[in-house]
This record gives sequence, structure tokens and C-alpha cells, in this order.
Amino acid sequence: MTVIFDLDDTLYAEMEFVRSAYREIARKHGRELLGPMLDAPSPREAFDSTGLPIGELLPIYRNHFPDIRLPWQSLYTLASLKNRGHRLGIITDGRSLTQRNKIRALGLERFMEEELIFISEEVGCDKISGWSFERVMELCGEGERYMYVGDNPMKDFVPGNRLGWETVCLINGAKGENLFSQDFSLVAKENRPKCCVDSLTQLLGFDSLKKL
Ligand SMILES: [Mg+2]
Repeated sequence: MTVIFDLDDTLYAEMEFVRSAYREIARKHGRELLGPMLDAPSPREAFDSTGLPIGELLPIYRNHFPDIRLPWQSLYTLASLKNRGHRLGIITDGRSLTQRNKIRALGLERFMEEELIFISEEVGCDKISGWSFERVMELCGEGERYMYVGDNPMKDFVPGNRLGWETVCLINGAKGENLFSQDFSLVAKENRPKCCVDSLTQLLGFDSLKKL
């Protein structure tokens, strides 16, 4: 099977990236800024708490090389799926430099095939357009089966469902700090994931992901 993952709040908790940016801002502009940023209820309020212009902070947030690690559940799941012979990749929305830095910091290149990593800014299409999903199917072929694993009910499962992929939602992957709501009540039935897991390691028990 070809298993494609979302990045933020699926393979790691995006708030870890946000806190890494706060530390970088504090290193550059003063250590006293760190506490109030960490205590702020949202990134926007954290930035406001510094009193610095947003034009100064956003480039640090977007371009710094993050101090983040792959959670063991992701590491174990990716290593096991790769060992079983499945093809792995990423489809993520975001800026090229920001997402590439995250991928490198998390050490994801050793699990993913480079040609199966799609970042919206690089390909010029958002996830929801389905372009990257169709490209994956061109690359891996018609006889292959496909799965997308994500966290955001508003967009992550729309293209996969349309194209006949298995779609899986990781629930509460960021342990109460998910940046996007996981309220399914507003999501049309055809856009909901086909199943939900509360740890990525549960994928290893799926019949479709047993050894090839
Ligand atoms: Mg996500």
C-alpha cells in the first residue's frame, strides 16, 4: 500500500514547532520575552506580547530551523510500515522552506520517498485541490491501494475520499494542543475520514497494512 501522511499535528505536534519559534525569537530579541510568549493562549497573542512588529517576527517563525523531534509513536509506525514494504510519503500545505525544515529536523527523509513529498507552495496547489493525490496515483500506478492519514476534518479527507483512498484521522495527536478543531459535526459526510485512530501505532493493526 502507499501511505501518505499529513505533517502538522499528524506526524508531530505543531505547537512544538510554535514553541521552537518562540525560543528563537527570545534568543534574537531578549530572553525575557520567552515566558510571556509561552503563557499566551495563542501564537497571535504570543507575538503581541513581545511588543515587536509582526514583520520582524514572522520571518523568524517561518524560516528558523526548528528544534523539534519525531514522537516515538510516529517513529515506530513509520519504521514498521517501511519494513513491511509499504511506500510512504507526505502531502502538506505550507511554505516550502518552513515545511522542508520541519521534515529535515524530524528526520523524515529516511522513511519517505522524495518523489512522494508534496508541499503546496512547491506544487502550486493546495491539498484540497487533489492535484498531489492524483500525482501520487500516477507515480505508484493503478493496481496500488492508497491511504491518507491526517488530522484536519475540514480539508484532509476531501481529496482522498473522492479518489477512493482509505482515509484515517488521528484524533488528538497534539494532546489537547491541536491547532485545528476536530469537530466533525460541521463536516459533510462525504468529507469525513473512513476511520479514526487515537495513536498512529494503531495503523499497524489494520488488515490493509499487514505485510505485503
Ligand atoms: Mg495537519
